[in-house]
Amino acid sequence: MTDRHEELRLLLGAYVLGGLGTGDRRDLEDHLSRCETCREELSRSAPLPGLLRRLPAGSAPWDDGAPSTPPGEGLEGLLPRLLDGVGQDRRRRRRSSMVRTGVIAATVAALAAVGTAAVRETPAPASIVSLSATGLSEADGDVSLVDMPWGTALTVRVSGLPDGGPFVLEVTRSGGGVPEQAATWSATPARAIEVRGASSIPYTEIDTISVVGPEGRVLTSR
Ligand SMILES: [Zn+2]
Repeated sequence: MTDRHEELRLLLGAYVLGGLGTGDRRDLEDHLSRCETCREELSRSAPLPGLLRRLPAGSAPWDDGAPSTPPGEGLEGLLPRLLDGVGQDRRRRRRSSMVRTGVIAATVAALAAVGTAAVRETPAPASIVSLSATGLSEADGDVSLVDMPWGTALTVRVSGLPDGGPFVLEVTRSGGGVPEQAATWSATPARAIEVRGASSIPYTEIDTISVVGPEGRVLTSR
């Protein structure tokens, strides 16, 4: 059997990304069992798919949001093109192995840069505020707030609720205005609940957050 090392090592990038056909994959895995050089190269590339999965949409270095970027040309579009490029490159057997190895090296370098970008991505602003009992009940708890493009996502956790219901999570904009209902729910036997809600009020403009019970009684508030 001839040594196919130079040919098969070119498939390592595609192998890591899960883009090899059955035949190529079998050939490469067979070669990997006998070639320490390729095993080492593989172990250096193996963390890449995990990094790629953490990549938020639109944060890739090649994605500048320009209108010329066609739909689907983010990560989803790029990987098949990279893999396809590997296959085409492999078929051009007259090209030197140095050039072909360079293509793989550039691919891996680009993917490593993607991982760095993902690590630098800052998380969306979020906070948790406590809800204190108002004296009308013993209910208290907290609300987590997450800044969203459309307003604010809220998750309220409250216990010690009285009998009856319904209960309403109300949110008021700073500077006043009509309270928005962000969530409603009925009484539970445990008198405790965790409910997700939403408000059109931007995260930075939310002032008061209250749980309102039957007859409009404010049970707990911040
Ligand atoms: Zn090898």
